[in-house]
Amino acid sequence: MADGGPVEHGFPHLETVRAAVTALYRRLSYDTVQQFSTSVPPADVAFCDTDDLHLGTQRVARELVRHFRLPDARMIVAFREMQHAANVELTAGPEYFVELNDRFRGHRRDIGAALAHEIMHVYLHRVDLSFPGTRDNEILTDTATTYLGAGWLLLDAYREDGASSQKLGYLTPEEFGYVLAKRSSAFGEDPSVWFTSAQAYTAYERGWERARRDERQPPLTAAGWTGRRRYARDRRQAQGHGQGHGPAQGRGSAGDAGAGDVPYAFAADPAGPLRVTFPCPTCHQRIRVPVRGRVRARCGLCRTVLECDT
Ligand SMILES: [Zn+2]
Ligand SMILES: [Zn+2]
Repeated sequence: MADGGPVEHGFPHLETVRAAVTALYRRLSYDTVQQFSTSVPPADVAFCDTDDLHLGTQRVARELVRHFRLPDARMIVAFREMQHAANVELTAGPEYFVELNDRFRGHRRDIGAALAHEIMHVYLHRVDLSFPGTRDNEILTDTATTYLGAGWLLLDAYREDGASSQKLGYLTPEEFGYVLAKRSSAFGEDPSVWFTSAQAYTAYERGWERARRDERQPPLTAAGWTGRRRYARDRRQAQGHGQGHGPAQGRGSAGDAGAGDVPYAFAADPAGPLRVTFPCPTCHQRIRVPVRGRVRARCGLCRTVLECDT
């Protein structure tokens, strides 16, 4: 787990974060993801500086192992001087050796956050889900920790005051907020009451706004006027291409400098009607529906019902 350096902000890893949510649903299935509808409650992972270091660490590790439904896994946690915040050795188990940076001896309230990330490495290792490359795999780990209910701890470990700052994990605070907001909307849970860090709360709000934008993209009926107008124009253009001209893309049409990419694309099937594809706002798997006005679709992966005006 990475540690230190200036805190990066914004949404630089959004594409990988979204791919991680899709991968999680694909690997675990909708039913398994549903088992995580309740987050780790703050009381279960609370750790204050007067608690015994080793007993407290083992207790928090046990709670997280239980939350992630790893019944036979045992975490052996040790503290040592190291460059990273934490590390775990991925073996066949059932014992896993976790190392935490010595500085956590004096920052016990963040031990839960560090352990949540490391124990998620074990979880993903066991379900055999990984992304190639360290950066993407760490983003997958942070995203999974958060989507499955323990990532609010990681966001809450983000604090900045004057000269000092602290942040754990590879996602930016806003990206943690984004995944938390996605989770909140999928499970009807409000994590904002758990934050002890004011900066974490602000980052959650930014992430929440970004996540709401995913739910307001055409062809979803919740899309705003500007988006709908552009969609109608892109659709006209796609229809104008007619059959036999291959797929007409709704991306970055000429004369729209600075407008950025749109998430939907039109595909003209030579034998059938025009179709539009767009990412599911919950799991980001691509959905394909015919262009024919009001359409209700259901995402096959996360089962979200999507009201569209195509
Ligand atoms: Zn890691
Ligand atoms: Zn979906």
